[in-house]
Amino acid sequence: MTPGLRPLVAGNWKMHGLAADGLALARAVAAGGEGIHAEILVCPPATLVAAVAAALAGSPVATGGQDCHANPKGAHTGDIAAAMLADAGATYVILGHSERRADHAETDAQVKAKAIAAIAAGLTPIVCVGETLAQREAGQAESVVRNQVTGSLPEGFAAAGGVVAYEPVWAIGTGKTPTEADIAAIHAALRQAVGATTRLLYGGSVKPGNAAAILALPDVDGALVGGASLVAEDFLAIARAAG
Ligand code: PEP
Repeated sequence: MTPGLRPLVAGNWKMHGLAADGLALARAVAAGGEGIHAEILVCPPATLVAAVAAALAGSPVATGGQDCHANPKGAHTGDIAAAMLADAGATYVILGHSERRADHAETDAQVKAKAIAAIAAGLTPIVCVGETLAQREAGQAESVVRNQVTGSLPEGFAAAGGVVAYEPVWAIGTGKTPTEADIAAIHAALRQAVGATTRLLYGGSVKPGNAAAILALPDVDGALVGGASLVAEDFLAIARAAG
């Protein structure tokens, strides 16, 4: 944790959830989230953002999107503008997740343009960075994430409250995590790159069993959680572990 920064525990539901189960999950997180110190965020699929945001109104849990387009409007079939997410009740948006970088060939420049659009629409961007296994094994993890930060974060990112999530690609959904020393080393490098006020989340197979140790590391200001965020009790246990 970084003294003075309120931890953020964010759930990335990815492409999971129809209305009934998504709303039940959101309501369970809201009920259990009362009294937890960490800021709690859920990022449902786009189809559920408005309904989840409405269900969470007045609760301590915020709603976010999982991506937005770089343009405020236009001929972009199937895409969603940042202002549309904000209009639906979102206050955050995840950008540059490794699954989007892989599935949609998103570049750092595109992520940066999306972050600019998100900030302009009043959303707080959570920009994801992280190395592949091959890059880690080649000793390039730190330089890869530094380059991603340099390329993906626009000017004014820190002032807008932007958040960075370090998510090693090989740790996402695999049950594998870097050693605590490796997480701390990358977060220290990120801290140097982004400054003292930007929250740095760790993401990649965070579970109730490993959350306390990871969240206690210096410069780890919260977690971005995939699989475990689909089970309210697990997600809440992680949020409680953030202190
Ligand atoms: C993620 O996709 O952001 C993530 C961290 O997934 P998981 O927790 O399932 O590894």
